Amino acid sequence: MGKEAKKIASVDVEKLIEMLNAALAEEWLAYYQYWIGARVIEGPMRTEVEAELLVHATEELNHAVMVADRIIQLGGTPLLHPQEWFKKSGCAYDAPTDPYIEIILNQNLQGERCAIRRYNEIAAFTSGKDHITHQMATQILADELEHEHDIEDWINDIDRMKEELKKLRV
Ligand code: FE
Ligand code: FE
Ligand code: MG
Repeated sequence: MGKEAKKIASVDVEKLIEMLNAALAEEWLAYYQYWIGARVIEGPMRTEVEAELLVHATEELNHAVMVADRIIQLGGTPLLHPQEWFKKSGCAYDAPTDPYIEIILNQNLQGERCAIRRYNEIAAFTSGKDHITHQMATQILADELEHEHDIEDWINDIDRMKEELKKLRV
């Protein structure tokens, strides 16, 4: 942090860096969850969903870039070892051991909801105190809300398809 930056900072920077490092760990785990999920996915709409999962993966990676850069600006050190991802993350990593589309989508959905809670927390913590981190957190939060919405839409489509199939059987 520069001289003037320190002067205007009215936030607990240590605590903020701690929260940002947790978010950084969560972004990497989310990235891999999407990336590996896109590769193993099976079931209806696989081609369409696979492409979107990869888009989300790239977006999570962009979030990691933003968060790591902000940690450095604040005078902190971004997590340097992948071993720390599991220690610092507040979100679970669910290995897609069953590659069926509904299971993969639900795993990613839990991750998005966890990310939403994280950035909501960071946005609230920095509101009116650290405008730059606040702006970053709300920008990422907007992406996470969109991710949740995309996944909910697919899950609803699959449920609808199941309902329609049930009607045919009668
Ligand atoms: Fe993200
Ligand atoms: Fe996301
Ligand atoms: Mg999307």
